[in-house]
Amino acid sequence: MQFVYALRSKGVTDARTLVAMERTDRARFVKGHFANRAYEDMPLPIACGQTISQPSVVGLMTQALKVQPRDKVLEVGTGSGYQAVILSHLARRVYTVDRHKRLVQEARKLFEEMDLTNITAITADGSHGLPEQAPFDRIVVTAAAEDPPGPLLAQLKPGGIMVLPVGQSDTVQSLIRVTRTDGGFDYEELRPVRFVPLVEGLGAD
Ligand code: SAH
Repeated sequence: MQFVYALRSKGVTDARTLVAMERTDRARFVKGHFANRAYEDMPLPIACGQTISQPSVVGLMTQALKVQPRDKVLEVGTGSGYQAVILSHLARRVYTVDRHKRLVQEARKLFEEMDLTNITAITADGSHGLPEQAPFDRIVVTAAAEDPPGPLLAQLKPGGIMVLPVGQSDTVQSLIRVTRTDGGFDYEELRPVRFVPLVEGLGAD
């Protein structure tokens, strides 16, 4: 309850997002030394030098994505699997990709333990999207690129929405929402954020 209260105070007000986050115990996704800080509103380290995002940022991104129950969603940057599980409570089907095989394997194990059969985790370079499952109703990217990757824009359905951080790493990045319209794309800037960089190619582990 404290957790949901903290989310609300940071601007996460969408009821469906809050219910999905309440159902998703963040402690399952944080291992080792930092496990006891799972309910704090801060990013925490996970394997492969990556981070699980701050819960309020996960909430703000999820609500900005306006996921509908029939949607097919692509997440680029599985990381711990936390955001993917929240999305799986809101969407029909979630595809999540990460360039680190180890993170994908660990996340897959958690999805199985939680009996979540509507998430598929794949080791891939998400900057190319996931052509074999495209197009998507929604795309969320949880690592920062300088600009929205062209293949991801191309894999968005008409009317589809993509939420992603853009900007160079180690400087302030902006969270943006891209909506595909009949004639092109609409861009909205949502807030400053800080994410690990979107890196091309597969990771070493
Ligand atoms: N959404 C995650 C947090 C992800 S951190 C969670 O809820 O825990 C960002 C992730 O993006 C990292 O795991 C990193 O390996 C991944 N990543 C970076 N570049 C990538 C790329 N080109 N393709 C796929 N994943 C990428």
